[in-house]
Amino acid sequence: MSKIKVAELFYSIQGEGRYMGVPSVFLRTFGCNFTCKGFGMPKGELSDEADTIAQVAFHYDKYEQLPLVSTGCDSYASWHPDFKNLSPMLTSDAIAERIMEILPHGEWRDEHLVITGGEPLLGWQRAYPDLLDHPKMQGLKEITFETNGTQRLTDDFKKYLFKWKKQVKGRQITFSISAKLPVSGEKWEEAILPKIVTEYEWFGRGYLKFVVATEKDIQDAEQAVDEYRKDGFTGHIYIMPVGGVESVYTLNAKSVALAAMKRGWRYSDRLQVPLFKNEWGT
Ligand code: SF4
Repeated sequence: MSKIKVAELFYSIQGEGRYMGVPSVFLRTFGCNFTCKGFGMPKGELSDEADTIAQVAFHYDKYEQLPLVSTGCDSYASWHPDFKNLSPMLTSDAIAERIMEILPHGEWRDEHLVITGGEPLLGWQRAYPDLLDHPKMQGLKEITFETNGTQRLTDDFKKYLFKWKKQVKGRQITFSISAKLPVSGEKWEEAILPKIVTEYEWFGRGYLKFVVATEKDIQDAEQAVDEYRKDGFTGHIYIMPVGGVESVYTLNAKSVALAAMKRGWRYSDRLQVPLFKNEWGT
């Protein structure tokens, strides 16, 4: 039976993107190919918040105890090696059982599954079929993979996604592609990979979601959109304000919304910030 290293597994409201407001189970896998230390930092500087917390990682036994950060990646414990002991390897059986416990009716109804990270398309593609074929997962109709758009789908997983969709009428697969602009601190040539992202659209709906804070980020998003469109990407474009804590987030939400309107793009909120203060498990 396949196992997945699970950083978090919780039930909440999807706060971002196309499924904003939809009750959702979040399966957060461990591991990421990026560190995104640029978020919330002056240009050219990198956040050391996660590394500073990591120096006293032994203080923390569970996610809920971990400090929130206002710079860098707000889900740092889902990839930082010093927190890997907080993410157990769970069998698909254990994950499916736990999902039944956290769903309000003990079964799938109108809820949606979000497979997120870290980067959920790194190595775990081989484990998802076992989980999604589990008898307790048969009522599930909608899945979103929240990816940074850098990982190719394996041939086996592509075949499986086709099969999963066909098995039950109305099933939907969505790729929420949060491609990383330079504001993240990651390199353009490693983060903006149109050929990979365009391929996702063959297996489900895809949309791009850019985190922006300044006019320069919006210009970067425009350049990235041009590159994705040239390679045939047809999905919607969302922009979303930077910031994992409310004090940062409220500074730029309105200007981001206005910038989206001007370009005919979609605005994404981060409902988990005003609703739940972006706490772990929300
Ligand atoms: S890609 Fe996402 S999970 Fe990975 S470091 Fe960046 S923000 Fe964090």
